[in-house]
Amino acid sequence: MARSEQQDRIKRLLPGKVLWVAIAVISCAVFALLHTLFSGVSADALIAQTGLAKTVEVTTAIVNSIPLNFDVPKDFQAKIIKDVPVIGTEKYIALTFDDGPWPETTEKILATLKQEKIKATFYVIGQPLKSFPEIGKKVLADGHVIANHTLHHWYKQMSPLVAQREIEDTAKIIKEVLNVETAYFRPPGGVLTNGLVAYALKHNQSVNMWSVDSGDSHPKRPSTAAILKTVLAGATPGGIVLMHDGGGRHDNTAKAVPQIIAQLRDRGYKFVTVPELLELSSAAAATPTAQGSSTSVGS
Ligand SMILES: [Zn+2]
Repeated sequence: MARSEQQDRIKRLLPGKVLWVAIAVISCAVFALLHTLFSGVSADALIAQTGLAKTVEVTTAIVNSIPLNFDVPKDFQAKIIKDVPVIGTEKYIALTFDDGPWPETTEKILATLKQEKIKATFYVIGQPLKSFPEIGKKVLADGHVIANHTLHHWYKQMSPLVAQREIEDTAKIIKEVLNVETAYFRPPGGVLTNGLVAYALKHNQSVNMWSVDSGDSHPKRPSTAAILKTVLAGATPGGIVLMHDGGGRHDNTAKAVPQIIAQLRDRGYKFVTVPELLELSSAAAATPTAQGSSTSVGS
């Protein structure tokens, strides 16, 4: 009797035990795989072994990094900027890309920026970042700045609660996908009065407009030559250039970027991110000698 009860008990427990053993075995296998991937195996070896090196390289960078914060210098917190004249002799300019990440366009632009050793600022929308997380991770892994451009890219008037959700839900996605916290915000369409900017300013964010609109988001999609001409005509030291890598394909923008970089370089420009532009300006303002040198700047 006792033996039969024991057998029944074993029968009852068995499926559960098998399940737990299976979970344990699978967990060990996954752990072993992750351990192999993320410890000491070079990217080259991974290319050879898995062909997934690019993804693994990026993922490793994310996994290994502590949360990355893009903070705003004190002088620029809770302020709206459209350019940041830097006092000194250098001509700095910031290239910015909105509405991504987006297949092909973002990747083409990233390839150009990498080749030219330039860092830019990417104002990402929550939805595409959720849809294309690997492209977003590549933007971050390449050393570019991630900024918030809301969840739905709405221009409409919003209640304080909806405005909060547009910004904070995007911040949450940025945190989940990229392990990044960013205090840089750009309102969709540059709309300043629909509740979004009020929320961003209330929370000490830096609201980033632009000094040059490349015009590349126009429905008629201007040509590469037109984008180049517009950017060159509007470029100024301390300027912020608005372009788009997302919200649809932007082939002409991707083609224009190498030419924009080459021609601005010919004119003596150096490329920085928006946070770098703010830091340079803060540092220059705090240095009397740098302020003095501003009198010798011609442009
Ligand atoms: Zn936008």
